[in-house]
Amino acid sequence: MKVVKFGGSSLADAGQIRKIIDIVKADSDRRLIVVSAPGKRDPDDTKVTDLLITLGETVLAQRSFDQELAAVVTRYADIQQALKLTPTVVAEIEEDLRSRIRNRSSHDAQFMDTIKAAGEDSHAKVVALAFAAQGISARYVNPKAAGLLLSDDFGNAQVLPESFERLACLREMEEIVIFPGFFGYTLQGDIATFPRGGSDITGAILAAAVKADVYENFTDVDSVYAMDPRLVDDPPSIDILTYREMRELAYAGFGVFHDEAIVPVIHANVPICIKNTNRPEAPGTLIVPQRRYEHGEVTGIASAGGFSAISLSKYMMNREVGFGRRLLQIVEEEDLSFEHAPSGIDNMSVIIKSEPFTDEKERRVLARIQEELEPDELSVEHGLSLIMIVGEGMRYAVGIAAKACEALSQAGVNIELINQGSSETSIMFGVKEVDRKKAVQALGRALF
Ligand code: ASP
Repeated sequence: MKVVKFGGSSLADAGQIRKIIDIVKADSDRRLIVVSAPGKRDPDDTKVTDLLITLGETVLAQRSFDQELAAVVTRYADIQQALKLTPTVVAEIEEDLRSRIRNRSSHDAQFMDTIKAAGEDSHAKVVALAFAAQGISARYVNPKAAGLLLSDDFGNAQVLPESFERLACLREMEEIVIFPGFFGYTLQGDIATFPRGGSDITGAILAAAVKADVYENFTDVDSVYAMDPRLVDDPPSIDILTYREMRELAYAGFGVFHDEAIVPVIHANVPICIKNTNRPEAPGTLIVPQRRYEHGEVTGIASAGGFSAISLSKYMMNREVGFGRRLLQIVEEEDLSFEHAPSGIDNMSVIIKSEPFTDEKERRVLARIQEELEPDELSVEHGLSLIMIVGEGMRYAVGIAAKACEALSQAGVNIELINQGSSETSIMFGVKEVDRKKAVQALGRALF
């Protein structure tokens, strides 16, 4: 049995939906289909999820929302007309949206999740009708009925462990299941969504629950590339990589697969195959628990912007027991997650995401560090990018860091920090955002 997830661009209009029906028809093992909300039809288009966010915000601001609601409904009406589906489905989608707005909770984040989830929920119903219109027996299944239970971190929910046993019964369904991605229900029965791009996570959970032979993730590229094609011309494609490599690359900006979606499939040992809806005959990229690799081989280079570093130094820091813990505790008490913490004998940096690190939090964190840790020097740097060189084959190889540093120095890029995790699967460089593109290009030339 295969669990198959189609992303927003694979379901953006009637033409794309026809393609996905052909893909499902071509392989009788493709029985559990996870769908995203309609995505962009062209680069200037807006995703339905973004239209829904605008709608929700308009409602919260107590402004008239007719236009925003119509923008969403029109996307489904276009698809319904082109596929000649019953018009009642569009009326039902509109009524469902209005009822989500009428019955809105006073908890804003919870309300926003209810609105955002309507994108996937409505589309799963439309796609199920489109399959039926082709004479394929397919059925929309609601995540609540199927037992997909999530934590109540609205907009950032995580799956509850009991979901897996409940969802296992989807294996027994006779019809092809069309399952909306991106959301589930809390124990209180409220809708909660995963982080953005979270339909990948739904697919991974279902693949683990039904113990699928493979989790196919259809998107709009032929494969995962070793570097971001927006930064580097014609990067090599990756045929096979491990879960760990994918997780590290996805974390640092490889948008093709959600970094959190690896976790459920790791536990169940289900391989993932990334494929292209527009060219299903291309082999795609396989993500597996283990693979053979050449020593010294680099799999990919990822980069992500939007990081800040808090750096401090203090003579004899190495003799102060608990210094690192106290520093991280200050960060924790501001509800900031630390990404990395490179350190030297008398200095330490904490890398955090810039977005949640507001000016107010920055002031409080610095004041507390000053008072409680009494550093000799303390500074904050914004506008940092992290570059990750990833590859399991680097573990036993000599000289990769040297080659990378040499390449960065030749390109005139100043390295702000370096970090290598104990798994030795990745080497991370922190550079200024303005140097990011130049740095990735230089590393690509040296390492591939
Ligand atoms: N539609 C949601 C988003 O745009 C989830 C997804 O497509 O995976 O983030």
